[in-house]
Amino acid sequence: MSAVIPIQLDQGCSDAPVLLERGQREVFCGLTGIIWLHRKMQDAFFLVVGSRTCAHLIQSAAGVMIFAEPRFATAILDERDLAGLADAQDELDRVVQRLLERRPDIRLLFLVGSCPSEVIKLDLSRAAGRLSERFMPQVRVLNYSGSGIETTFTQGEDACLAALVPVLPVSMQQHEPELLIVGALADVVEDQFARLFTAMGIQRFAFFPSRRSTALPAIGPQTRFLLAQPFLADSARALEDRGARRVPAPFPLGAEGSAAWMQAAGAAMGLSAERVEQAIAPARQRAELALAAHRALLAGKHVFFFPDSQLEVPLARFLARELGMQLSEVGTPYLHRQHLAEELAWLPAGTALSEGQDVEKQLDRCRALRPDIVVCGLGLANPLESEGFTTKWSIELVFTPIQGFEQAGDLAGLFTRPLTRRQLLAA
Ligand code: SF4
Repeated sequence: MSAVIPIQLDQGCSDAPVLLERGQREVFCGLTGIIWLHRKMQDAFFLVVGSRTCAHLIQSAAGVMIFAEPRFATAILDERDLAGLADAQDELDRVVQRLLERRPDIRLLFLVGSCPSEVIKLDLSRAAGRLSERFMPQVRVLNYSGSGIETTFTQGEDACLAALVPVLPVSMQQHEPELLIVGALADVVEDQFARLFTAMGIQRFAFFPSRRSTALPAIGPQTRFLLAQPFLADSARALEDRGARRVPAPFPLGAEGSAAWMQAAGAAMGLSAERVEQAIAPARQRAELALAAHRALLAGKHVFFFPDSQLEVPLARFLARELGMQLSEVGTPYLHRQHLAEELAWLPAGTALSEGQDVEKQLDRCRALRPDIVVCGLGLANPLESEGFTTKWSIELVFTPIQGFEQAGDLAGLFTRPLTRRQLLAA
């Protein structure tokens, strides 16, 4: 049975200096989150209030899913709206009315702001309030911003969940703690976690967001929430404002990260470390076995992270500690020191950390270091590939189920595959 490794926050990169950069950035906007959120929340609809560019972005990101009955669309602001010649609020009411008449299955409608709607200062919270009043109890209407102005693409999920927190029911639980897992997870991952929590003996647990808006989890002062994703700063703050308390933990990536995350869940619910270990041991051993083959391929290889998904620090920790990779640079759009405290403590001391971006300078550093693999956004991947670098799209790491023990091998495979492909091409 593997030992439980305590995390000491005065180690690794807990107090490491961070290179702060505030130059030109290469990132996607928060609308991208609609792609995984609409899969998760099965009775929700996402109506982007934006331009043709916004419509193209989500349609191309959604790929084949547009063949199914879509649960997202764009209300396009045209020149008349942008010039203030039309009453955009009236037009929006008409679009929503038509949509809800055509789609009686919708229970939760998100009006999603974009750069154009922010530029013309279209007040979507007023629209959401007005439309909610009109269509409740059948349909609740909420709003959030997916704009790409000063944000990164995973913030769309954070903004969406933060908008949902105020409408979560009040928990009646007075004395016993209840566990809330926060962050959209693939259903298969959620089901695995649910089985492990049950095996540990935890009965009061829920996932947020829930699959159906009619089954939103209740929260209150007894709620202990555990983040499943590292990019949920606003959602965490909103939950804390409702009295819930965050459980500090690393993120459930890899065998070690998943075990520590499960241990944190167990401790928050009053379970002993031995009891948790007993429940998770078989899954943990399967994960360690799956990682062994990848470790042979990845150990000693250098990886460079450009800032994109906010998953960079947990991924770097996983690659360094469980697969023996060397970290050339770990760039992240935002470094949330509190939510990442356990991750930073686990990073090898001396890791080069950067926050924000000045893309040309960072490209120069990357070229000078010649890493074996570069994790970056789509905009940088092709140019870097053409310069002979092996790349991994960071967005793929958000679209793919990577959390938990059973996915640890798949997660490592996302890094071994591009390296193996490059070797085959070079042979
Ligand atoms: S929200 Fe902004 S960045 Fe995103 S697609 Fe629309 S215009 Fe482009």
